Amino acid sequence: MNEQLIQEVVAEVVARLAQVQPGLRLKTDGATAPSPAKAAASPPSPAPPRAAAAGRRRGVFTDANEACEAASAAFRQLQEKGLEGRRKIVAIVKELCEANAAEWARVELEETKIGRLDHKIEKLQVIKLVPGVEWLRPDGLSGDHGITLEEYTPFGVIGAVTPMTHSIPTIAGNIVNMVAAGNAAVFNPHPKAARCAVLAAQTFNEAIYREVGIDNIACVIENPTLESFQAICAHEAVRLLCVTGGPGVVKAAMQTGKRAICAGPGNPPVLVDDTANLSRAARDIIRGAAYDNNLLCVGEKEVFALDNVADKLMAEMERHGAVRLTPGQLDALTKAAFTFKEGQDGGAEPVVNKEFIGKDATVLAQAAGVSVPNGTELLFAETEANHPFVFEEQMMPFIPIVRVRDVEEGIREALKAERGYRHTSIIHSNNVEHMTAMGRALDTALFIKNGPCMAGLGLGGEGYMSYSIATPTGEGVTNPKTFTRVRRCVMVDNLRIY
Ligand code: NAD
Repeated sequence: MNEQLIQEVVAEVVARLAQVQPGLRLKTDGATAPSPAKAAASPPSPAPPRAAAAGRRRGVFTDANEACEAASAAFRQLQEKGLEGRRKIVAIVKELCEANAAEWARVELEETKIGRLDHKIEKLQVIKLVPGVEWLRPDGLSGDHGITLEEYTPFGVIGAVTPMTHSIPTIAGNIVNMVAAGNAAVFNPHPKAARCAVLAAQTFNEAIYREVGIDNIACVIENPTLESFQAICAHEAVRLLCVTGGPGVVKAAMQTGKRAICAGPGNPPVLVDDTANLSRAARDIIRGAAYDNNLLCVGEKEVFALDNVADKLMAEMERHGAVRLTPGQLDALTKAAFTFKEGQDGGAEPVVNKEFIGKDATVLAQAAGVSVPNGTELLFAETEANHPFVFEEQMMPFIPIVRVRDVEEGIREALKAERGYRHTSIIHSNNVEHMTAMGRALDTALFIKNGPCMAGLGLGGEGYMSYSIATPTGEGVTNPKTFTRVRRCVMVDNLRIY
């Protein structure tokens, strides 16, 4: 038998064995080994006790200072491993997200009780679209006085805060971006989404230790509190913060005195004019607003439609499966979805009822007093421009439709509804002047034309993926370069070779 034939026979045997024992793969020398993702993915749980693995913590800490010190040690080890070490870690995290998508999505949904399983699975599968080490290309200058290189170098340890709306996806995406740039990280996850964060972090760190030999490159606080957030921010090893969440955490991060990359709240308006393809606009609005039950910060939150196409748009939305509420049903839903407290001006200020955030459209329908078919993805109703559903970032699969006389009024109202977050805005139109006017007026980090919100994150539009879109601090859709310091290396009067 020649060598090639032997290889083929071995490969055939391994392929058959893999059907019996998933995760088996062929190493280049012909021996078999579990793939990093499969090895970590199965058996699904339970995880061995923390102390068991020779004192290794696998990234999980109760004490924030210990976590920062462990991450600092991991950062120094990563420096030794070079770019190849970073590439391996990025590949491991992406592979594990793919391999564990179904299980982790289920665990996160069970813990948080918000969103949709199908989209939670997808949100993990698309971690592969987050850019890695290849994103960092140094800039070169060459002139009469020699050559200069500007390099994108790590900060060290990054302190990060992640939201309840996408706990594991944000942690995974942040690790890819931060480690690709050469950093280690300490995460203070949302307390209501910390168990799933710990599960993912343990799995990442275990595989990274096995394949690269570094423990604790991405640490997670097991029992996150405001105190652990403060301790992370205050630790001297933490050189940069990255927070993803609502107005409270953005404000808190900016008050620490450390540089903070803040991925803050949004309330994305959609404008539909009378040149738009209304069927496509209706379909895209439903896809975006219903995604994970409207938990995305980029998700469509309110629609302004020109009066002469509003009825047709709503008919198209019904044709595409959304359910229209009557004024009475809208009132009932509003009473359930908001409480009202006295505002600073003496008027009633709406507060979103957390019980309804990220719940299925069928649950909202029940509160509205209407029965809708199972599988209904989105509810909508016509409202006034000053309705709470227009102004509040409600994160529910209901979208208000507001009639406007013309594009100018639509842009004015969209600007008010966006509330100065400068996060995301969307237009459905075939008139480039309307697009330009809205783009200039809204001044948002993402401006999407003729697509659902996800197109702004590389899902159906050109671009790359991240779950941290730094809006108030201006970095935009974060990528590995966001987490670097630019350092200049200068050679005087030499090495310019022409
Ligand atoms: P949240 O603001 O309640 O919590 C976000 C994180 O901040 C959590 O870990 C929470 O524990 C922490 N936190 C809250 N207040 C804090 C404070 N004062 N000090 C320290 N930590 C604090 O938000 P959420 O419900 O988890 O997520 C939804 C919000 O996040 C929405 O406003 C959404 O738009 C925003 N978000 C933005 C992006 C983005 O990329 N811009 C991405 C996802 C979510």
